[in-house]
Amino acid sequence: MQKIPFLDLKQLNAPYMDALKAAAAQVVESGWYIRGSFCEKFEKAFADYCGVKYAVGVGNGLDGLTLMLRAEIELGRLNAGDEILVPSNTYIATLLAVSAAGLVPVLVEPCEKSFNMDPARLDASCGPRTRGILVVHLYGRLADMPAICKFAKERGLLLFEDCAQAHGARLSAAAGDPQACNRPRFAGSFGAAAAYSFYPTKNLGALGDAGMVITDDAEIARVVRMLGNYGSEKKYVNKYRGVNSRLDEMQAAFLLAKLPHLDAWNARRREIAARYVGEVKNPLLRLPEIPADPREHVWHVFTLRTPDRKTRDALQKYLESRGIGTLIFYPIPPHRQEAYAPSPDGRESLLPADRLAGKFPIAESMAETVLSIPVSQVLTDAQVTEIIGALNEFVF
Ligand SMILES: *Cc1c(COP(=O)(O)O)cnc(C)c1O
Repeated sequence: MQKIPFLDLKQLNAPYMDALKAAAAQVVESGWYIRGSFCEKFEKAFADYCGVKYAVGVGNGLDGLTLMLRAEIELGRLNAGDEILVPSNTYIATLLAVSAAGLVPVLVEPCEKSFNMDPARLDASCGPRTRGILVVHLYGRLADMPAICKFAKERGLLLFEDCAQAHGARLSAAAGDPQACNRPRFAGSFGAAAAYSFYPTKNLGALGDAGMVITDDAEIARVVRMLGNYGSEKKYVNKYRGVNSRLDEMQAAFLLAKLPHLDAWNARRREIAARYVGEVKNPLLRLPEIPADPREHVWHVFTLRTPDRKTRDALQKYLESRGIGTLIFYPIPPHRQEAYAPSPDGRESLLPADRLAGKFPIAESMAETVLSIPVSQVLTDAQVTEIIGALNEFVF
């Protein structure tokens, strides 16, 4: 029996070996390795792809998120201690960025159906210090942007996006409310700024760490670029207390070579997801929803749910015995992490006690019952059939 790994990065990149080698050779020969012409070209190509004016290459996704928030602080639009709403079931990096910028993450529970931040819960999570929303397009599905944009606009909140899982996800103009969002379109084009990660496993992945901030705001772009370069624009003149977080030429050249294929990869992921949803008929498994407009989802991961933790753990073992790799996104929700344990004085807490009782039952239930199965573009039809067969034969 041939194993089906959760994600085979070597196989994923192999078809592009010649292009990647050529890109690497060009970079080596150029004699310029950080923030040069490949970075500039990829920034331009990615901004164009997303339909925004500016893109700034950074070292990774977490830095992108952190620096876009820090830029807003440097520009006086956010202040240290301001609260930012984030989903309770996101990857920890979303919260780490908010904290690293000196802001306070406040958790909002997701919708059971979409796994994304529930717009109906935003109001109850707001307090006098709430200044922004950092929405995450989790698992590759665009969050409910018409509703979230509308809420942000009504309350005068800054809107940011964590697009680390949503390369290529888009809202058709007809599907959105053009009044609510001034620019309905690609993930990352809805708010003040957005960050992407190009970690190798993402839908558009580098061969190392890489990230990007995109925005239509020239000032945010400029400040992010400075913050990622020691707070400096002019050599040895430092306006901010910046960091070193820049996109290197090698990764930019690889990403430039891979970007033209992104839409085709996502289309293949959608094809596989549609087969799972159509052909898995096991009453123990709750399958994710395909959005009315399928292009809102790029299936970074395909996540099933089971009735309880025991069933999930049994399913994972069973699939492993059938040679099928799975992963749990994520087994421990952020509010259960030691990193976010309330400090004795309560100041570091995520949980303003007056509004949120520190209870996130949906995030906890998801952590106990989710399981992600392979969905990458390299799967063959036969492998997809094998996975579907295994899921349909699962009993507990
Ligand atoms: C991957 C990821 C990040 C962090 O990206 P890095 O490039 O690994 O720093 C942030 N948020 C989410 C939702 C992610 O999936």
